[in-house]
Amino acid sequence: MMVFLSLSARILLNVEALNMVESVGNFIRHRRAPVAVPTGGGFTLKYVPVISGESLAHSYQELIADMAVKSAIKVCDNCRAGYFIKHSGDEVLEDWAKNAIKEGEVAFEKAVIQNCVVEDVGGFLYAGRRPVKRTSRFQVGYMIPALDAITSTAVEAQFHVRYARSPEEQSIYNVEVGSAIYTFAFNLDVDGIGVLSSSKIEPAVGKEERLKRIEIAIKSLNTMLSNALFGARRSRFMPSWKVLNAVAVVSHQIPINAEPPHTKEYIISTLKKVKLSKEFLSKGNVKIDENVWMGYYKSAYEELPELKEVEEAEDLTKLISRALDQVVKLIT
Ligand SMILES: [Zn+2]
Repeated sequence: MMVFLSLSARILLNVEALNMVESVGNFIRHRRAPVAVPTGGGFTLKYVPVISGESLAHSYQELIADMAVKSAIKVCDNCRAGYFIKHSGDEVLEDWAKNAIKEGEVAFEKAVIQNCVVEDVGGFLYAGRRPVKRTSRFQVGYMIPALDAITSTAVEAQFHVRYARSPEEQSIYNVEVGSAIYTFAFNLDVDGIGVLSSSKIEPAVGKEERLKRIEIAIKSLNTMLSNALFGARRSRFMPSWKVLNAVAVVSHQIPINAEPPHTKEYIISTLKKVKLSKEFLSKGNVKIDENVWMGYYKSAYEELPELKEVEEAEDLTKLISRALDQVVKLIT
């Protein structure tokens, strides 16, 4: 049994300051990273605006914590407050966690999972005398500009003045803003939610509770993506944004990733990979009956190659909702 959800999307973000790294005097810089860009025959290195995976993971876990509180699923105090230091060392352990660590690694992981859905889904690393590690059940990486639209990417400093009564009191500041078609990729190891990982692989919570936690993980993804609720500086630099298109894949038995959305062919490439993977897995002496659902969403902003065999959702929320239906069907 292995249920895996993978989603890729192209997102237009204009005039965003979602991930800033430092201020030098009155100059606030946008995060940048080197990216190898194909140039027809070779590659060239470009420094482009990016949004880090840590930043996305922070927002996602905040949304999980919030939804959990509203649906009476347990979250620890630090995660509830948005401090994701998690159960990393003795100095942050609550009484229940102190008792659990005395009983060993398995008991500790179980107690943390039961008491905090954020650490159940997002993992933790206890670096005490007997380290306990739980790998995150979701994976995100840097949002980088789509390679086919990299020439339409820019970072530019915007001049601002904080107005005051006397000119001496006025302050000048510059904020770098980025504009690009960003790529977004997200994976969720559905099977691992609510399940121990240390030495015994068995459920840490009841079946009903596990289903609720899976639902929270997928609904939080939708809240984050369909409302662009990620990144910082949204109070005055809320970007002008649009999810251009997205593809979701739910695979059962062997995980299959949605292709990275660097070109508009990514949905077709995902479909091809799904077909070939199914065929490959079904042949030979080890025959695996791979079960895959795939759906996509497209806005009017970007024309995509025609897709006949894939289910089209009328909007992004509908796409994620369909993916959740498939996951629930496979789990129950
Ligand atoms: Zn927690």
